[in-house]
Amino acid sequence: MLDSYAVIGNPVSHSKSPLIHAAFAQQTHQSMQYTAILAPLDAFQATVANFRQQGGKGLNVTVPFKLDAFQLATRLTERATIAQAVNTLKFENDEMLGDNTDGAGLVRDIESNLGISIATKRILLMGAGGAARGVILPLLQQRPSLLAIANRTPRKAEALMEQFEDYGNIYPYHFMSLNEHFDIIINATSASLQGTLPELPGNIFTHAVLAYDMMYGREPTHFLKFAQLNGVCQVADGIGMLVEQAAESFFLWRGIRPQTKPVIAMLKSQL
Ligand code: NDP
Repeated sequence: MLDSYAVIGNPVSHSKSPLIHAAFAQQTHQSMQYTAILAPLDAFQATVANFRQQGGKGLNVTVPFKLDAFQLATRLTERATIAQAVNTLKFENDEMLGDNTDGAGLVRDIESNLGISIATKRILLMGAGGAARGVILPLLQQRPSLLAIANRTPRKAEALMEQFEDYGNIYPYHFMSLNEHFDIIINATSASLQGTLPELPGNIFTHAVLAYDMMYGREPTHFLKFAQLNGVCQVADGIGMLVEQAAESFFLWRGIRPQTKPVIAMLKSQL
């Protein structure tokens, strides 16, 4: 029987994870299958238990179950503990290991694929939801000179600052008081999903080396277009992060690090 993995979410049919992991498995000659599971909103735990009973080895967890997975795991990696969210589960004997690979995926995309070192940079992270929470520790571990967090609901950015202040130089910012200079500006809000962008002064992009939107699609998002108009050097969407976080999950499950660049290129050609 093939080792079985899946992405679990609701909705889940749009997920690119089955495509990505099939490409990884083929490239690394792993005998495994990877499917997508739609879990009822009130039955995450039962759906996971059923998958396990049928011999499932691991799951990627997507919206809206990352918190449920955090609570369900019997052991957590440090980055999952601190993010308080789990996007990868690994089943071994009686144990259910919970990890969060989103931040490692973002860092690897920025540093390895885009060739931009995070150390000593001034970073602005917009958003304070699940995606933002998952990337703060891995970003701070690269030793930026500062990490500012701006969110539409400011108290959530303030709460994140309080949670992470022991790990690096982190500040809460208000969108409209953003008139300083940043090197890397990351959009971790879901504004792009709604076809809009956070209210931002254009001049924050003037000296920036990178504008990064975690959202991806066929066309550049409003945020990336706005950044380009205002003089940013380079823009990137979240397709690289998506593939890199998947590679990190694959490594956790199979102990092999797949090549990501050909898979990123394949996905981009299919958008
Ligand atoms: P959440 O729902 O947890 O958080 C949404 C965040 O966006 C909140 O901070 C919210 O602010 C803010 N927001 C929503 N609408 C607007 C708006 N119109 N203007 C300004 N801020 C807004 O979502 P996630 O954190 O899970 O996901 C965020 C984005 O990241 C999504 O686009 C998702 O697709 C992407 N993502 C990409 C990944 C990848 O691998 N590429 C991985 C994970 C996520 P408030 O607190 O005020 O409500």
